[in-house]
Amino acid sequence: MSDCLFCKIAAGEIPAKTIYEDDDVIAFHDIHPAAPVHFLLVPKTHLDSLAHAQTQHQPLLGKMMLLTSKLAAEQGLSDGYRTIINTGHGGGQTFFHLHMHIIGGKTLSTNIS
Ligand code: IMP
Repeated sequence: MSDCLFCKIAAGEIPAKTIYEDDDVIAFHDIHPAAPVHFLLVPKTHLDSLAHAQTQHQPLLGKMMLLTSKLAAEQGLSDGYRTIINTGHGGGQTFFHLHMHIIGGKTLSTNIS
């Protein structure tokens, strides 16, 4: 999508602190980190949100889930991390291109609200 920030980052049109990239996904540090380590894992194909995912996206979503542990380990999150996918306005999503937050580097609250 032409006006989508994460599409532009995925296309290399807007700079980001990229930590991983392949044909399907890109991961980069969040510009407003909520913890010492906070990066986003983003599919390169545009999907508005998790609610828009369909059966054809199952391999991509599985790949993203499995990538989190590799990328978290590379970022030094040996003690654990949190994954968050905000979905829709009610879910706190502000950028409407599916993305997974990976957060860690401090002891996170057990309160996830
Ligand atoms: P959401 O609220 O789940 O949609 O999260 C969007 C995230 O994108 C927020 O944590 C923002 O800080 C982050 N963000 C916005 N613009 C940029 C950027 O240009 N680079 C990296 N992260 C960004």
